[in-house]
Amino acid sequence: MENDKLMRYYALLERLTGTMADSEHFTLDRLNDSLAGLCKLFRVSKGVTEFYKSASHEKSGRGEIFVCYDSGEGGSEVMGRRIVTKSMAVTKCRVYMPTGVEPLNDEEREKVDLIMKTVLSFVGNIKLQKIVERLTFYDDSGYRNMRSFMRYLELLNEKKQLGTHTAAYFNLRHFSQINQEIGRNAGDMVMRNYFTMLEEVIGDEGIVCRVGGDNFVAIFDDGLLIDVLEILKGVPVTYDAGNSKRVTISASTGVFRIPDGFAYEDPGDIMDKIVASTKTAKNSDSESIVFFDSKTEAGKEKLANIRTLFPQALANGEFKVYYQPKTDIQSEEIIGAEALCRWEHEGEVIMPADFIPILEQSSDICKLDFFMLERVCQDIRRRIDADKPVVRISVNLSRKHMLDADLTEHIIEIVDRNRIPHNLIEIELNESTTDVEFKEVKRVVGELQQDGICTSVDDFGIGQSSLNLIREIPWSVLKLDRSLLPADEENPHSTRSVMFKYLVAMAKELGLECIAEGVETENQVQMLRNNNCSLAQGYYFGKPLPSEEFEKKLDE
Ligand code: C2E
Ligand code: CA
Ligand code: CA
Repeated sequence: MENDKLMRYYALLERLTGTMADSEHFTLDRLNDSLAGLCKLFRVSKGVTEFYKSASHEKSGRGEIFVCYDSGEGGSEVMGRRIVTKSMAVTKCRVYMPTGVEPLNDEEREKVDLIMKTVLSFVGNIKLQKIVERLTFYDDSGYRNMRSFMRYLELLNEKKQLGTHTAAYFNLRHFSQINQEIGRNAGDMVMRNYFTMLEEVIGDEGIVCRVGGDNFVAIFDDGLLIDVLEILKGVPVTYDAGNSKRVTISASTGVFRIPDGFAYEDPGDIMDKIVASTKTAKNSDSESIVFFDSKTEAGKEKLANIRTLFPQALANGEFKVYYQPKTDIQSEEIIGAEALCRWEHEGEVIMPADFIPILEQSSDICKLDFFMLERVCQDIRRRIDADKPVVRISVNLSRKHMLDADLTEHIIEIVDRNRIPHNLIEIELNESTTDVEFKEVKRVVGELQQDGICTSVDDFGIGQSSLNLIREIPWSVLKLDRSLLPADEENPHSTRSVMFKYLVAMAKELGLECIAEGVETENQVQMLRNNNCSLAQGYYFGKPLPSEEFEKKLDE
């Protein structure tokens, strides 16, 4: 080749490789442009490349063919090359020359071959990248997958744009039912069309991905929230070619509006929130869309807090016994009291509802109950020693104790160590729900009764009260829950009034003491009198009081 032609060849080759290396601006047109000069230089009329994922795809002709340069002059094939990549993909190139032009000499053939090799390895590379991309970021049905979602999150995080976005997790409602009704293929089409509707609304301002089955995640610009929710709340979706058959699709959705300055470490930080909210949405009959609430999060923190604070608080004596009087409504005398726990923490009084349920999730509640019993015994001992009047005190025991085989021994040990007559202590137990518990409750109550310690059924009337519970277990006291107490103006023939009357009578007949909880008004006291229920506990007679105040009342 003459020098001049050689120089042009190198310049064009450089331009070609430059085009290929510039991935940001690369287009097929640019590639064709770069090749055109080279083809002209070698009198070539057409260059075709082919790409096959594997040799078997090549055999069956399942590949992609693209023309890289075509002058339109036609001609016949003069050279070809086939390359198998490391991952067994096949790329092929064919070069055509018009008839009648001077054929390529050896040196020229060598140079054309180099161009083909360069183009082929490049095509192989970008095609492979696309395939890898598809396998990595799309699922078998062609939906973007979780990896797409995570990559998008990372990207938003890098660009510090999470704060202007909303994330959502959603599960199509009744989708298996819909599948059954319209058939699988139609079902697939419904899902695809629904997904496309969301993709169209979200566009470039977010991403929708399928997690698996009929579960999806999305993240999108806050401004799209209303439009996206519109679709998630329920829209008609077509499922036939003629767009005439439609079915309404809605989704149980958990939504998290990512706040500004959200501390993002990994995708789990966002996934946890939207998945949890979706669960809530699924379990709700009325709310198909649930927004993640940071208060729920704060609640979890509080829970962890209470658990960590508990041991020290118990040791510091932050738990206090309050006493609520039990009154004989005839004589208006205090005949006993219930010990109720209060947590005095950093100048604040925390109510049992805020910590008992949390302590009940572990055996911490047992420690607290024994602590309460110990304090109650100490208070009674002090009064006995001072020759002051004493009344029977009831202590609440959580059901958590029922599996403790040594429970009775433990209780007796505390009572006896403080030298308290057994008849001054009463143990309140909640209704049990399971058979196993029933058996345990029966054992514990029996043992305590043998030891002369009173037991009471607490909160009788809420939950699934069973008459078996009172027939088969030797209780001393039935505590009627305040929900059983008829309201002030209630008709004496109302179901509740009749039930109340019947329960009081039944307790009496079985030889059980009966006390009404939550008595708040004069009218209710009158109602108790009318029904021969002589014992009452409630705000009308006194709220739970700190021990000094309660003792002052007792002294009077
Ligand atoms: P409970 O055993 O049913 O206790 C009665 C609750 O009803 C007490 O709430 C009491 O303040 C409230 N009460 C009493 N009279 C009235 C009234 O007239 N009207 C209304 N509206 N409420 C009234 P408290 O003290 O907040 O205790 C709540 C629950 O916490 C107790 O329900 C009991 O289940 C549990 N609890 C309290 N202390 C302990 C404890 O030391 N150990 C265990 N295991 N549970 C405890
Ligand atoms: Ca109680
Ligand atoms: Ca109660």
